[in-house]
Amino acid sequence: MAEMVRNFIGGEWVEARGGDTFETINPATEEVIASVARSTREDVDAAVKAAKQAYPNWRLVPAPRRGEILYRVAQLLQERKENLARTMTQEMGKVISEARGDVQEAIDMAFFMGGEGRRLLGYTAPVEMPNKFGMALRDSVGIIGIITPWNFPIAVPSWKILPALIAGNAIVFKPGEDTPRTAAEFARVFGDAGLPPGVLNVVHGAGEAGEALVSHPGVRVISFTGSTQTGVKVYTRAAELGKKVCLEMGGKNAIIVLDDANIELAAKAIIWSAFGTTGQRCTATSRLIVQSGIRPKLIDALVEQTRQLKIGYGIDESVQVGPLVNRKALEKVEYYVGVGRDEGVDVLIGGGRPNLDKGYFYLPTLFDGVSPDMRVAKEEIFGPVLSIIEVKSLEEAVEVNNGVPYGLSSSIFTENVNAAFRAIRDLTTGIVYINHGTTGAEIQFPFGGTRGTGNGMREAGQTALDAFTEWKSVYVDYSGRLQRAQIDNDAVLGGLGN
Ligand code: ADP
Repeated sequence: MAEMVRNFIGGEWVEARGGDTFETINPATEEVIASVARSTREDVDAAVKAAKQAYPNWRLVPAPRRGEILYRVAQLLQERKENLARTMTQEMGKVISEARGDVQEAIDMAFFMGGEGRRLLGYTAPVEMPNKFGMALRDSVGIIGIITPWNFPIAVPSWKILPALIAGNAIVFKPGEDTPRTAAEFARVFGDAGLPPGVLNVVHGAGEAGEALVSHPGVRVISFTGSTQTGVKVYTRAAELGKKVCLEMGGKNAIIVLDDANIELAAKAIIWSAFGTTGQRCTATSRLIVQSGIRPKLIDALVEQTRQLKIGYGIDESVQVGPLVNRKALEKVEYYVGVGRDEGVDVLIGGGRPNLDKGYFYLPTLFDGVSPDMRVAKEEIFGPVLSIIEVKSLEEAVEVNNGVPYGLSSSIFTENVNAAFRAIRDLTTGIVYINHGTTGAEIQFPFGGTRGTGNGMREAGQTALDAFTEWKSVYVDYSGRLQRAQIDNDAVLGGLGN
Protein backbone atom coordinates (compact mmCIF):
# COMPACT_ATOMS: atom_id res chain seq x y z
CA MET A 1 0.00 0.00 0.00
CA ALA A 2 1.56 3.28 -1.12
CA GLU A 3 2.10 5.90 1.53
CA MET A 4 -0.04 9.05 1.50
CA VAL A 5 1.88 12.34 1.32
CA ARG A 6 -0.14 15.34 2.47
CA ASN A 7 0.26 19.10 2.38
CA PHE A 8 1.63 20.85 5.46
CA ILE A 9 -0.47 23.93 6.16
CA GLY A 10 -0.55 25.88 9.41
CA GLY A 11 1.27 23.04 11.17
CA GLU A 12 -1.28 20.40 10.07
CA TRP A 13 -0.88 17.58 7.54
CA VAL A 14 -3.89 17.92 5.25
CA GLU A 15 -5.19 16.47 2.00
CA ALA A 16 -5.74 18.63 -1.04
CA ARG A 17 -9.11 20.41 -0.74
CA GLY A 18 -10.50 18.69 -3.82
CA GLY A 19 -9.13 15.32 -2.62
CA ASP A 20 -7.08 14.88 -5.83
CA THR A 21 -3.86 12.87 -5.74
CA PHE A 22 -1.03 11.76 -8.01
CA GLU A 23 1.46 8.89 -7.72
CA THR A 24 5.23 8.90 -7.52
CA ILE A 25 7.37 6.10 -8.87
CA ASN A 26 10.76 4.70 -7.87
CA PRO A 27 12.78 5.28 -11.07
CA ALA A 28 15.01 2.25 -10.45
CA THR A 29 12.25 -0.30 -9.81
CA GLU A 30 9.20 1.42 -11.37
CA GLU A 31 7.23 0.64 -8.18
CA VAL A 32 4.68 3.14 -6.91
CA ILE A 33 6.06 4.86 -3.80
CA ALA A 34 3.41 7.30 -2.69
CA SER A 35 0.05 8.83 -3.36
CA VAL A 36 0.41 12.60 -3.09
CA ALA A 37 -1.91 15.55 -2.57
CA ARG A 38 -2.42 17.34 -5.89
CA SER A 39 -2.87 20.95 -4.87
CA THR A 40 -4.86 23.57 -6.70
CA ARG A 41 -5.26 27.33 -6.34
CA GLU A 42 -7.46 26.79 -3.24
CA ASP A 43 -4.75 24.85 -1.40
CA VAL A 44 -2.15 27.47 -2.28
CA ASP A 45 -4.53 30.11 -0.99
CA ALA A 46 -4.99 28.24 2.31
CA ALA A 47 -1.20 27.96 2.67
CA VAL A 48 -0.68 31.67 1.98
CA LYS A 49 -3.38 32.48 4.58
CA ALA A 50 -1.57 30.31 7.16
CA ALA A 51 1.73 32.02 6.34
CA LYS A 52 0.11 35.46 6.65
CA GLN A 53 -1.21 34.56 10.05
CA ALA A 54 2.16 33.32 11.30
CA TYR A 55 4.29 36.10 9.82
CA PRO A 56 3.59 39.01 12.24
CA ASN A 57 4.82 37.03 15.25
CA TRP A 58 7.70 35.32 13.46
CA ARG A 59 9.21 38.57 12.19
CA LEU A 60 9.34 39.83 15.77
CA VAL A 61 11.12 36.76 17.15
CA PRO A 62 14.69 38.05 17.74
CA ALA A 63 16.94 36.79 14.95
CA PRO A 64 19.34 35.00 17.37
CA ARG A 65 16.33 32.98 18.64
CA ARG A 66 15.33 32.18 15.06
CA GLY A 67 18.94 31.04 14.60
CA GLU A 68 18.62 28.63 17.53
CA ILE A 69 15.69 26.93 15.79
CA LEU A 70 17.88 26.54 12.71
CA TYR A 71 20.63 24.94 14.83
CA ARG A 72 18.03 22.48 16.07
CA VAL A 73 17.03 21.84 12.43
CA ALA A 74 20.69 21.04 11.69
CA GLN A 75 20.86 18.59 14.61
CA LEU A 76 17.66 16.80 13.61
CA LEU A 77 18.88 16.56 10.02
CA GLN A 78 22.07 14.94 11.31
CA GLU A 79 20.03 12.42 13.29
CA ARG A 80 17.72 11.66 10.36
CA LYS A 81 20.35 11.87 7.62
CA GLU A 82 20.35 8.19 6.72
CA ASN A 83 16.56 7.90 6.52
CA LEU A 84 16.24 11.08 4.50
CA ALA A 85 18.97 9.89 2.11
CA ARG A 86 17.26 6.52 1.60
CA THR A 87 13.92 8.17 0.89
CA MET A 88 15.65 10.43 -1.63
CA THR A 89 17.34 7.53 -3.45
CA GLN A 90 14.02 5.70 -3.63
CA GLU A 91 12.21 8.72 -5.00
CA MET A 92 14.62 10.19 -7.52
CA GLY A 93 17.35 7.61 -8.05
CA LYS A 94 20.62 9.30 -7.07
CA VAL A 95 23.04 6.85 -5.46
CA ILE A 96 22.93 6.68 -1.67
CA SER A 97 26.35 8.30 -1.07
CA GLU A 98 25.26 11.32 -3.12
CA ALA A 99 21.91 11.42 -1.34
CA ARG A 100 23.79 11.66 1.97
CA GLY A 101 25.77 14.56 0.47
CA ASP A 102 22.50 16.25 -0.47
CA VAL A 103 21.28 16.13 3.14
CA GLN A 104 24.71 17.29 4.35
CA GLU A 105 24.34 20.48 2.27
CA ALA A 106 21.21 21.31 4.25
CA ILE A 107 22.97 20.57 7.55
CA ASP A 108 25.81 22.92 6.58
CA MET A 109 23.36 25.56 5.43
CA ALA A 110 21.32 25.30 8.66
CA PHE A 111 24.41 25.90 10.80
CA PHE A 112 25.59 28.71 8.53
CA MET A 113 22.22 30.49 8.45
CA GLY A 114 21.70 29.82 12.18
CA GLY A 115 24.88 31.88 12.67
CA GLU A 116 23.41 34.63 10.47
CA GLY A 117 20.89 35.10 13.29
CA ARG A 118 23.64 36.95 15.14
CA ARG A 119 24.79 38.91 12.10
CA LEU A 120 22.22 39.89 9.44
CA LEU A 121 24.61 42.76 9.00
CA GLY A 122 23.50 46.16 7.88
CA TYR A 123 25.70 49.26 8.08
CA THR A 124 25.96 52.81 9.31
CA ALA A 125 27.49 55.70 7.39
CA PRO A 126 28.16 59.36 8.16
CA VAL A 127 25.25 61.74 7.54
CA GLU A 128 25.16 65.33 6.29
CA MET A 129 24.04 67.10 9.48
CA PRO A 130 25.12 67.24 13.10
CA ASN A 131 23.05 65.39 15.71
CA LYS A 132 21.77 62.91 13.21
CA PHE A 133 22.40 59.22 12.71
CA GLY A 134 21.95 56.99 9.67
CA MET A 135 21.80 53.21 9.26
CA ALA A 136 20.69 50.63 6.73
CA LEU A 137 18.94 47.51 8.03
CA ARG A 138 17.87 44.28 6.43
CA ASP A 139 14.14 43.82 6.95
CA SER A 140 11.96 40.78 6.25
CA VAL A 141 9.78 40.90 3.14
CA GLY A 142 6.67 38.91 4.12
CA ILE A 143 5.52 35.74 2.39
CA ILE A 144 8.03 33.95 0.16
CA GLY A 145 7.05 31.42 -2.54
CA ILE A 146 9.63 28.70 -3.05
CA ILE A 147 9.49 26.42 -6.11
CA THR A 148 12.10 23.69 -6.52
CA PRO A 149 12.91 20.73 -8.78
CA TRP A 150 13.60 17.09 -7.90
CA ASN A 151 17.36 16.82 -8.53
CA PHE A 152 18.52 18.15 -5.14
CA PRO A 153 15.35 17.51 -3.15
CA ILE A 154 16.78 18.70 0.18
CA ALA A 155 19.85 20.79 -0.69
CA VAL A 156 18.12 23.19 -3.09
CA PRO A 157 15.08 23.86 -0.85
CA SER A 158 17.48 24.38 2.09
CA TRP A 159 19.35 27.10 0.16
CA LYS A 160 16.08 28.99 -0.06
CA ILE A 161 14.11 28.07 3.07
CA LEU A 162 16.90 28.65 5.61
CA PRO A 163 17.91 32.19 4.57
CA ALA A 164 14.23 33.13 4.12
CA LEU A 165 13.50 31.95 7.68
CA ILE A 166 16.47 33.60 9.38
CA ALA A 167 15.44 36.89 7.77
CA GLY A 168 12.01 36.58 9.45
CA ASN A 169 9.81 35.63 6.50
CA ALA A 170 7.02 33.04 6.28
CA ILE A 171 7.08 30.53 3.43
CA VAL A 172 4.91 28.55 1.04
CA PHE A 173 7.05 25.80 -0.50
CA LYS A 174 6.08 23.86 -3.65
CA PRO A 175 8.56 20.99 -4.06
CA GLY A 176 9.26 19.07 -7.28
CA GLU A 177 6.50 16.59 -8.09
CA ASP A 178 8.95 13.65 -8.29
CA THR A 179 10.20 14.10 -4.70
CA PRO A 180 7.23 14.97 -2.46
CA ARG A 181 7.99 12.42 0.25
CA THR A 182 11.53 13.67 0.73
CA ALA A 183 10.18 17.23 0.86
CA ALA A 184 7.54 16.27 3.42
CA GLU A 185 10.12 14.58 5.66
CA PHE A 186 12.33 17.66 5.33
CA ALA A 187 9.44 19.95 6.33
CA ARG A 188 8.66 17.71 9.31
CA VAL A 189 12.13 18.49 10.68
CA PHE A 190 11.24 22.18 10.94
CA GLY A 191 8.06 21.48 12.88
CA ASP A 192 9.94 19.12 15.22
CA ALA A 193 12.67 21.73 15.72
CA GLY A 194 10.11 24.16 17.12
CA LEU A 195 9.32 26.37 14.14
CA PRO A 196 5.90 27.91 14.90
CA PRO A 197 2.98 26.52 12.82
CA GLY A 198 2.34 28.37 9.57
CA VAL A 199 5.86 29.78 9.20
CA LEU A 200 6.72 27.00 6.72
CA ASN A 201 3.92 25.51 4.63
CA VAL A 202 4.19 22.87 1.92
CA VAL A 203 1.85 22.41 -1.03
CA HIS A 204 2.49 19.44 -3.30
CA GLY A 205 1.55 19.28 -6.93
CA ALA A 206 2.72 20.14 -10.40
CA GLY A 207 2.80 23.28 -12.54
CA GLU A 208 -0.75 24.29 -11.60
CA ALA A 209 0.21 24.71 -7.92
CA GLY A 210 3.45 26.48 -8.87
CA GLU A 211 1.60 28.87 -11.14
CA ALA A 212 -0.97 29.61 -8.41
CA LEU A 213 1.85 30.45 -6.02
CA VAL A 214 3.57 32.78 -8.49
CA SER A 215 0.25 34.52 -9.20
CA HIS A 216 -0.94 34.84 -5.60
CA PRO A 217 -1.18 38.51 -4.60
CA GLY A 218 -0.08 37.71 -1.02
CA VAL A 219 3.33 36.39 -2.13
CA ARG A 220 6.00 39.09 -2.61
CA VAL A 221 9.07 37.08 -3.62
CA ILE A 222 9.47 33.93 -5.70
CA SER A 223 12.61 31.84 -5.48
CA PHE A 224 12.70 29.30 -8.29
CA THR A 225 15.08 26.54 -9.39
CA GLY A 226 14.23 24.43 -12.41
CA SER A 227 14.25 24.36 -16.18
CA THR A 228 14.86 27.47 -18.25
CA GLN A 229 11.52 27.06 -19.99
CA THR A 230 9.54 27.12 -16.71
CA GLY A 231 11.82 29.74 -15.14
CA VAL A 232 11.13 32.19 -17.93
CA LYS A 233 7.38 31.59 -17.53
CA VAL A 234 7.67 32.26 -13.80
CA TYR A 235 9.72 35.41 -14.41
CA THR A 236 7.24 36.75 -16.98
CA ARG A 237 4.19 36.15 -14.79
CA ALA A 238 5.91 37.60 -11.72
CA ALA A 239 6.99 40.68 -13.68
CA GLU A 240 3.36 41.40 -14.60
CA LEU A 241 2.59 41.42 -10.89
CA GLY A 242 5.70 43.43 -9.92
CA LYS A 243 7.28 40.68 -7.82
CA LYS A 244 10.91 40.04 -7.03
CA VAL A 245 12.22 36.77 -8.44
CA CYS A 246 15.36 34.73 -7.82
CA LEU A 247 15.99 32.28 -10.68
CA GLU A 248 18.37 29.33 -11.01
CA MET A 249 17.95 27.55 -14.32
CA GLY A 250 19.91 25.52 -16.86
CA GLY A 251 23.59 24.90 -17.41
CA LYS A 252 25.95 23.59 -20.09
CA ASN A 253 29.09 23.37 -18.00
CA ALA A 254 32.51 22.53 -19.34
CA ILE A 255 35.81 21.19 -18.11
CA ILE A 256 38.81 22.49 -20.04
CA VAL A 257 41.88 20.25 -20.07
CA LEU A 258 45.16 21.77 -21.29
CA ASP A 259 48.12 19.75 -22.55
CA ASP A 260 50.07 20.16 -19.29
CA ALA A 261 47.23 18.87 -17.04
CA ASN A 262 47.54 16.03 -14.54
CA ILE A 263 45.68 13.47 -16.63
CA GLU A 264 44.73 11.17 -13.78
CA LEU A 265 43.15 13.97 -11.76
CA ALA A 266 41.39 15.35 -14.83
CA ALA A 267 39.92 11.98 -15.89
CA LYS A 268 38.51 11.24 -12.42
CA ALA A 269 36.98 14.69 -12.13
CA ILE A 270 35.43 14.46 -15.60
CA ILE A 271 33.83 11.07 -14.91
CA TRP A 272 32.45 12.21 -11.57
CA SER A 273 31.19 15.58 -12.84
CA ALA A 274 29.65 14.15 -16.02
CA PHE A 275 28.03 10.99 -14.68
CA GLY A 276 27.44 11.70 -10.98
CA THR A 277 23.67 11.99 -10.30
CA THR A 278 23.41 10.49 -13.81
CA GLY A 279 24.34 13.88 -15.27
CA GLN A 280 21.29 15.51 -13.67
CA ARG A 281 23.02 18.20 -11.60
CA CYS A 282 22.70 21.81 -12.70
CA THR A 283 26.51 21.96 -12.34
CA ALA A 284 27.13 18.67 -14.20
CA THR A 285 29.85 18.68 -16.84
CA SER A 286 28.29 18.14 -20.25
CA ARG A 287 31.21 19.42 -22.37
CA LEU A 288 34.86 18.46 -22.30
CA ILE A 289 37.00 21.07 -24.05
CA VAL A 290 40.35 19.40 -24.59
CA GLN A 291 43.63 20.61 -26.09
CA SER A 292 44.90 18.51 -29.01
CA GLY A 293 48.10 17.17 -27.42
CA ILE A 294 46.52 15.48 -24.39
CA ARG A 295 43.34 14.43 -26.17
CA PRO A 296 44.21 10.86 -27.29
CA LYS A 297 45.45 9.73 -23.87
CA LEU A 298 42.64 11.45 -21.99
CA ILE A 299 40.01 9.87 -24.23
CA ASP A 300 41.50 6.40 -23.65
CA ALA A 301 41.33 6.96 -19.89
CA LEU A 302 37.74 8.23 -20.06
CA VAL A 303 36.47 5.36 -22.18
CA GLU A 304 38.09 2.86 -19.83
CA GLN A 305 36.70 4.47 -16.68
CA THR A 306 33.25 4.89 -18.21
CA ARG A 307 33.19 1.20 -19.09
CA GLN A 308 33.85 0.30 -15.46
CA LEU A 309 31.00 2.33 -13.96
CA LYS A 310 28.47 0.20 -12.12
CA ILE A 311 24.88 1.07 -13.04
CA GLY A 312 21.88 0.08 -10.96
CA TYR A 313 19.62 0.86 -8.01
CA GLY A 314 21.54 3.40 -5.95
CA ILE A 315 20.43 1.99 -2.60
CA ASP A 316 23.19 -0.61 -3.20
CA GLU A 317 26.40 1.06 -1.90
CA SER A 318 28.51 -0.28 -4.77
CA VAL A 319 26.38 1.29 -7.52
CA GLN A 320 27.90 4.44 -9.06
CA VAL A 321 25.26 5.53 -11.58
CA GLY A 322 21.52 5.39 -10.91
CA PRO A 323 18.57 5.85 -13.28
CA LEU A 324 17.18 9.03 -14.83
CA VAL A 325 14.45 10.51 -12.67
CA ASN A 326 11.49 9.47 -14.83
CA ARG A 327 10.46 8.20 -18.24
CA LYS A 328 10.24 11.70 -19.70
CA ALA A 329 13.85 12.44 -18.69
CA LEU A 330 14.96 9.13 -20.23
CA GLU A 331 13.16 9.96 -23.46
CA LYS A 332 14.84 13.37 -23.56
CA VAL A 333 18.28 11.73 -23.34
CA GLU A 334 17.32 9.25 -26.07
CA TYR A 335 16.13 12.15 -28.22
CA TYR A 336 19.42 14.05 -27.83
CA VAL A 337 21.54 11.00 -28.55
CA GLY A 338 19.56 10.79 -31.81
CA VAL A 339 20.24 14.49 -32.45
CA GLY A 340 23.98 13.87 -31.85
CA ARG A 341 24.02 10.95 -34.26
CA ASP A 342 22.25 13.05 -36.90
CA GLU A 343 24.78 15.84 -36.36
CA GLY A 344 27.57 13.34 -37.05
CA VAL A 345 29.13 12.81 -33.61
CA ASP A 346 31.20 9.72 -32.94
CA VAL A 347 29.69 7.66 -30.07
CA LEU A 348 32.75 6.31 -28.23
CA ILE A 349 30.82 4.38 -25.59
CA GLY A 350 27.20 4.15 -24.40
CA GLY A 351 24.53 5.53 -26.68
CA GLY A 352 21.78 3.17 -25.50
CA ARG A 353 20.02 1.61 -22.52
CA PRO A 354 21.71 -1.05 -20.38
CA ASN A 355 20.40 -4.54 -20.19
CA LEU A 356 18.26 -4.19 -17.05
CA ASP A 357 14.68 -5.42 -16.63
CA LYS A 358 13.26 -2.35 -14.97
CA GLY A 359 14.04 1.30 -14.41
CA TYR A 360 14.81 4.43 -16.41
CA PHE A 361 18.49 3.66 -16.92
CA TYR A 362 20.75 4.96 -19.68
CA LEU A 363 24.39 4.08 -20.32
CA PRO A 364 26.98 6.79 -19.62
CA THR A 365 27.77 8.11 -23.08
CA LEU A 366 30.79 9.82 -24.65
CA PHE A 367 30.36 11.86 -27.86
CA ASP A 368 33.57 12.63 -29.72
CA GLY A 369 34.09 14.92 -32.71
CA VAL A 370 31.66 17.52 -31.41
CA SER A 371 31.89 21.05 -32.77
CA PRO A 372 30.78 24.05 -30.70
CA ASP A 373 27.91 24.94 -33.04
CA MET A 374 26.16 21.55 -32.75
CA ARG A 375 22.94 21.37 -30.74
CA VAL A 376 24.43 18.75 -28.41
CA ALA A 377 27.19 21.24 -27.57
CA LYS A 378 24.77 24.06 -26.71
CA GLU A 379 21.51 22.64 -25.37
CA GLU A 380 21.00 21.14 -21.94
CA ILE A 381 20.50 17.35 -22.13
CA PHE A 382 20.38 16.73 -18.34
CA GLY A 383 21.59 13.15 -18.56
CA PRO A 384 24.77 11.04 -18.69
CA VAL A 385 26.08 12.41 -21.99
CA LEU A 386 29.46 14.14 -22.38
CA SER A 387 30.37 15.98 -25.61
CA ILE A 388 34.09 16.18 -26.39
CA ILE A 389 35.29 19.27 -28.26
CA GLU A 390 38.91 19.59 -29.42
CA VAL A 391 40.70 22.97 -29.28
CA LYS A 392 44.19 24.23 -30.07
CA SER A 393 44.78 26.80 -27.30
CA LEU A 394 43.63 28.24 -23.99
CA GLU A 395 42.13 31.22 -25.85
CA GLU A 396 40.05 28.95 -28.08
CA ALA A 397 38.99 26.90 -25.04
CA VAL A 398 37.78 30.01 -23.22
CA GLU A 399 35.87 31.17 -26.30
CA VAL A 400 34.13 27.80 -26.65
CA ASN A 401 33.34 27.72 -22.93
CA ASN A 402 31.79 31.19 -23.02
CA GLY A 403 29.92 30.66 -26.27
CA VAL A 404 26.82 28.91 -24.87
CA PRO A 405 23.54 30.42 -23.67
CA TYR A 406 24.27 29.35 -20.05
CA GLY A 407 26.93 30.40 -17.52
CA LEU A 408 26.79 28.38 -14.30
CA SER A 409 30.04 26.50 -13.70
CA SER A 410 33.34 25.92 -15.50
CA SER A 411 36.64 24.27 -14.74
CA ILE A 412 40.18 24.10 -16.05
CA PHE A 413 42.89 21.52 -15.51
CA THR A 414 46.40 22.90 -15.90
CA GLU A 415 49.62 22.96 -13.91
CA ASN A 416 50.48 26.40 -15.28
CA VAL A 417 49.63 29.19 -12.85
CA ASN A 418 49.54 31.83 -15.59
CA ALA A 419 47.01 29.83 -17.60
CA ALA A 420 44.94 29.24 -14.46
CA PHE A 421 44.75 32.93 -13.61
CA ARG A 422 43.94 33.90 -17.20
CA ALA A 423 41.09 31.40 -17.06
CA ILE A 424 39.81 32.86 -13.78
CA ARG A 425 39.84 36.28 -15.42
CA ASP A 426 38.19 35.28 -18.70
CA LEU A 427 35.71 32.46 -17.99
CA THR A 428 32.28 34.10 -17.78
CA THR A 429 30.51 31.67 -15.46
CA GLY A 430 29.24 32.28 -11.93
CA ILE A 431 31.47 29.49 -10.56
CA VAL A 432 35.04 28.66 -11.70
CA TYR A 433 37.10 25.68 -10.55
CA ILE A 434 40.84 25.10 -11.00
CA ASN A 435 41.95 21.45 -11.05
CA HIS A 436 38.55 20.28 -9.78
CA GLY A 437 35.36 19.18 -11.56
CA THR A 438 32.41 21.53 -12.13
CA THR A 439 30.43 20.26 -9.13
CA GLY A 440 30.85 20.49 -5.37
CA ALA A 441 29.94 24.09 -4.52
CA GLU A 442 30.19 24.96 -0.82
CA ILE A 443 27.36 26.78 0.90
CA GLN A 444 29.38 29.74 2.24
CA PHE A 445 30.01 31.15 -1.26
CA PRO A 446 27.51 32.64 -3.72
CA PHE A 447 25.96 30.03 -6.02
CA GLY A 448 24.46 30.92 -9.37
CA GLY A 449 25.17 31.64 -12.98
CA THR A 450 25.44 34.25 -15.68
CA ARG A 451 23.53 34.60 -18.99
CA GLY A 452 20.59 32.18 -19.38
CA THR A 453 21.31 30.39 -16.09
CA GLY A 454 19.70 33.04 -13.93
CA ASN A 455 18.64 36.64 -13.49
CA GLY A 456 21.67 37.96 -11.64
CA MET A 457 20.65 36.77 -8.17
CA ARG A 458 22.78 34.35 -6.18
CA GLU A 459 21.97 31.69 -3.62
CA ALA A 460 24.01 30.51 -0.61
CA GLY A 461 26.57 32.59 1.26
CA GLN A 462 25.44 35.89 2.74
CA THR A 463 24.31 36.92 -0.74
CA ALA A 464 21.38 34.51 -0.26
CA LEU A 465 19.86 37.10 2.05
CA ASP A 466 19.49 39.58 -0.83
CA ALA A 467 16.56 37.63 -2.25
CA PHE A 468 14.72 37.46 1.08
CA THR A 469 15.26 40.89 2.60
CA GLU A 470 14.36 44.48 1.85
CA TRP A 471 16.78 47.26 2.79
CA LYS A 472 15.37 49.82 5.17
CA SER A 473 17.34 53.08 5.45
CA VAL A 474 16.79 54.80 8.79
CA TYR A 475 17.60 58.44 9.69
CA VAL A 476 17.44 59.51 13.33
CA ASP A 477 17.55 63.23 14.08
CA TYR A 478 18.38 63.74 17.76
CA SER A 479 18.94 67.54 17.65
CA GLY A 480 15.46 68.26 19.06
CA ARG A 481 14.89 71.21 16.65
CA LEU A 482 14.58 72.05 12.98
CA GLN A 483 18.14 72.50 11.76
CA ARG A 484 19.05 75.46 9.54
CA ALA A 485 20.91 73.29 7.03
CA GLN A 486 17.83 71.12 6.61
CA ILE A 487 15.60 74.08 5.80
CA ASP A 488 18.14 75.37 3.24
CA ASN A 489 18.51 71.94 1.71
CA ASP A 490 14.79 71.46 1.42
CA ALA A 491 14.43 74.88 -0.19
CA VAL A 492 17.13 74.16 -2.76
CA LEU A 493 16.29 70.56 -3.58
CA GLY A 494 12.58 70.63 -2.97
CA GLY A 495 13.16 67.73 -0.59
CA LEU A 496 15.03 64.61 -1.64
CA GLY A 497 13.06 61.80 -3.16
CA ASN A 498 9.68 63.48 -3.40
P1 ADP B 1 12.38 20.03 -13.85
O1 ADP B 1 11.92 19.30 -15.07
O2 ADP B 1 13.84 20.20 -13.74
O3 ADP B 1 11.72 19.59 -12.59
P2 ADP B 1 10.58 22.23 -14.17
O4 ADP B 1 10.98 23.59 -14.56
O5 ADP B 1 9.61 21.51 -15.00
O6 ADP B 1 11.96 21.50 -14.08
O7 ADP B 1 10.05 22.22 -12.69
C1 ADP B 1 10.61 22.94 -11.63
C2 ADP B 1 9.53 23.29 -10.65
O8 ADP B 1 8.64 24.24 -11.24
C3 ADP B 1 8.66 22.12 -10.23
O9 ADP B 1 8.36 22.24 -8.86
C4 ADP B 1 7.43 22.29 -11.09
O10 ADP B 1 6.27 21.70 -10.55
C5 ADP B 1 7.30 23.80 -11.11
N1 ADP B 1 6.50 24.34 -12.23
C6 ADP B 1 6.22 23.77 -13.43
N2 ADP B 1 5.49 24.59 -14.20
C7 ADP B 1 5.31 25.74 -13.50
C8 ADP B 1 4.66 27.00 -13.74
N3 ADP B 1 4.03 27.26 -14.90
N4 ADP B 1 4.69 27.94 -12.78
C9 ADP B 1 5.35 27.72 -11.62
N5 ADP B 1 5.97 26.56 -11.33
C10 ADP B 1 5.96 25.57 -12.24
